[in-house]
Amino acid sequence: MQLTYQPFELQLKHTFTIAKFSRTSTPVILLQVEHEGHTGYGEASMVPYMGESHQTAVDFLNQVDATQFRYPFDFPSIIHYLDSIAPGQPAIKAAIDIALHDLEGKLNNQSCWKIFGSNPAKMPITSFTIGIDTKEVILQKVKEAAGLKVIKVKLGRDTDKELIQTIRSVTNVPLYVDANQGWTDRKQSLDMVYWLKEQGVMLIEQPMLKTDIDGNAWLTEHSPIPIIGDEAVQRLPDVAEAEGVYHGINIKLMKSGGMHEAQQMINKAKELGLKILIGCMSETSCATLAAAALAPQCDWADLDGPFLISNNPYKMPAFEDGKWVLNNQPGLGLLL
Ligand code: MG
Repeated sequence: MQLTYQPFELQLKHTFTIAKFSRTSTPVILLQVEHEGHTGYGEASMVPYMGESHQTAVDFLNQVDATQFRYPFDFPSIIHYLDSIAPGQPAIKAAIDIALHDLEGKLNNQSCWKIFGSNPAKMPITSFTIGIDTKEVILQKVKEAAGLKVIKVKLGRDTDKELIQTIRSVTNVPLYVDANQGWTDRKQSLDMVYWLKEQGVMLIEQPMLKTDIDGNAWLTEHSPIPIIGDEAVQRLPDVAEAEGVYHGINIKLMKSGGMHEAQQMINKAKELGLKILIGCMSETSCATLAAAALAPQCDWADLDGPFLISNNPYKMPAFEDGKWVLNNQPGLGLLL
């Protein structure tokens, strides 16, 4: 088993501003595992606020012994091995997990979505994210989002209502809202939730600080639309913690450490009656296809990564009627 990788910088089409940060590019690692003439592709997207970087990823990969990975892959043991190298660093762990799943699919001639038992006919519509920006840029972004069926809006500033009204002046598509922990007062938050519901908002992500468990739980109890935990939910043990605090959880491969643990999180969420949004970071077609392979098992999808970048090194996967289209190629179905 050969493991190779290249640090790469994804350029964002627009400066991306959320409640607490702003940036124009995202560091990623493009990773490959080779075995018996087949190559599996993986990716780590390391948005700065999650604490990983090219340097931490390279330091981690220098400690990985790829001879530990033997086909057929025993994913629970592989995850245990990767966690034993260092705690945290879920994105670079996800890159290895995704590449091994792609390779597994290619070695046994099966699509990843089939391996995970997903039904492509149940693929949810993907939302298209619009960051905080000036009115002119917002209108430009909405124009670029034409043809997409749901828009996700980043809120968390005192101009939130204006931003929604700007979008509403040009489109009636359903909206998702992500406050990225930006709201502080629970009563004001609930007023905002009711106002947003009137504006056609279908769900709200991480309204208050992830550490404000009582505040988020109170809002969930009173909210007429689903409240989804994102920053509060990273890996499998966090799913049980979300019960009674949120209506649902946002699963991202770059938080979960890859596809295997994301599937376990989906199973656990369903067992607890939690709704599931599957989301992404700024990602190429590679990590997007990995998430898309699991998306049919989720209630909502927010997998717009490839739409937000200008230098995707891979071909754009098929996208129709606001949804990713899963193909029958072995592995992820990634086209070079
Ligand atoms: Mg979010």
